[in-house]
Amino acid sequence: MSEQILPGQPHIAYHGNQLHVEQVRLSDLARQYGTPLFVYSSAAMLSALAAYQRGFSGRNAQVCYAMKANSSLAILQLFARAGCGFDIVSGGELERVLAAGGQADKVIFSGVGKTRSEMQRALAAGIACFNVESQAELEVLNQVALAMGRQAPVSIRVNPDVDAQTHPYISTGLKDNKFGIAHEQTLATYQRASSMPGLKVVGIDCHIGSQITQEAPYLDAMDRVLDLVGAIEAAGISLTHIDFGGGLGINYNGDTPPAADALWSKLLAKLDARGYGQRQIMIEPGRSLVGNAGVCLTEVLYLKPGPLKNFCIVDAAMNDLPRPAMYEAFHQIVPLSPRGGKSQVWDVVGPVCESGDWLGRERALDLATGDLVALLSAGAYCMSMASNYNSRGRAAEVLVNGEQSYLIRQRETVADQMRHEQLVG
Ligand SMILES: *Cc1c(COP(=O)(O)O)cnc(C)c1O
Repeated sequence: MSEQILPGQPHIAYHGNQLHVEQVRLSDLARQYGTPLFVYSSAAMLSALAAYQRGFSGRNAQVCYAMKANSSLAILQLFARAGCGFDIVSGGELERVLAAGGQADKVIFSGVGKTRSEMQRALAAGIACFNVESQAELEVLNQVALAMGRQAPVSIRVNPDVDAQTHPYISTGLKDNKFGIAHEQTLATYQRASSMPGLKVVGIDCHIGSQITQEAPYLDAMDRVLDLVGAIEAAGISLTHIDFGGGLGINYNGDTPPAADALWSKLLAKLDARGYGQRQIMIEPGRSLVGNAGVCLTEVLYLKPGPLKNFCIVDAAMNDLPRPAMYEAFHQIVPLSPRGGKSQVWDVVGPVCESGDWLGRERALDLATGDLVALLSAGAYCMSMASNYNSRGRAAEVLVNGEQSYLIRQRETVADQMRHEQLVG
């Protein structure tokens, strides 16, 4: 008997009374490796990727995993082997791609603040494209490329000014945020770029936000980007690819984002209708490839019932799983082995000395000290945002494939944390 706890997500389920990732019992992993522990399902990641690949079948398309969502080497390796490219936002991410066996010529480099040395390294490695976010960055990239006797392939990130209808911190396609070039300045910026000898214009890109659960913002943004493509090409600058960014949401708490293949069949229909169906398409999904493939296991340390609130103190904290503290994000919390008794309402919090250190509020759970629980949907923007705050070592990570499990990151020790520090004198 198996019971899915996330609808449509068959890889994390109860078999009997025990929560499993694929065929592996999570309480066994917690015992073996300790907690907090991140556990990921390879099958869940590959099936999320397959949904995009199905959507693009027969098309000239490249999926570039936005690796800031989860940049652990074994996960990059899994995606590289499945044919993925990568969307990077720093020189460090480029080195991770190369260390994991990814191909530089399937890498696109996004971000508003690339440094000269990051540009040099990426050019030398031979990445596919720089997604440039400002006029000033164009000038610097041109200088860097000329000094190396190279031409840098560029795409300009345009800001289509659509409201992705998501949390303000993860909405990026509106006029008043730091990303991209304003719609009105796009043509002039392309003309400037195409006049620079160190640059080769190859594409256009946009990325309107994250955790987007509706189709409308994507369809609107597509129309606006295609209007710009028309204007740019009318000015004699041809574009090889259209990069549509990432941002597709996942089900955290009853959210109902469109499926990747269904969304792309509508977007491709629009491209076809407007005569751009043969153009190379690039996309940069992050969260939707990994978010629901991961869980974070944690142990109940103390139960602290109180007059106004009951607190359940666990051994994971905001340094391991920063999304609730940062965005008031919701992660489902479920027991690894349900007791089947009467629930009480708990605020699930970590040991860090901050009131913001909470993982879930007002959760009805039947718990005892020493129980193990899982925070679901923890594959994206959790481990990659983890810190050492309170001198807590970062968690270990395990990748599951069928009945096999692999430790892909050891738990960080105190010695690891202190390695690069020194006393004075
Ligand atoms: C973060 C980011 C992505 C990925 O966003 P998701 O919401 O995780 O899909 C893609 N492109 C750019 C430029 C980004 O900054």
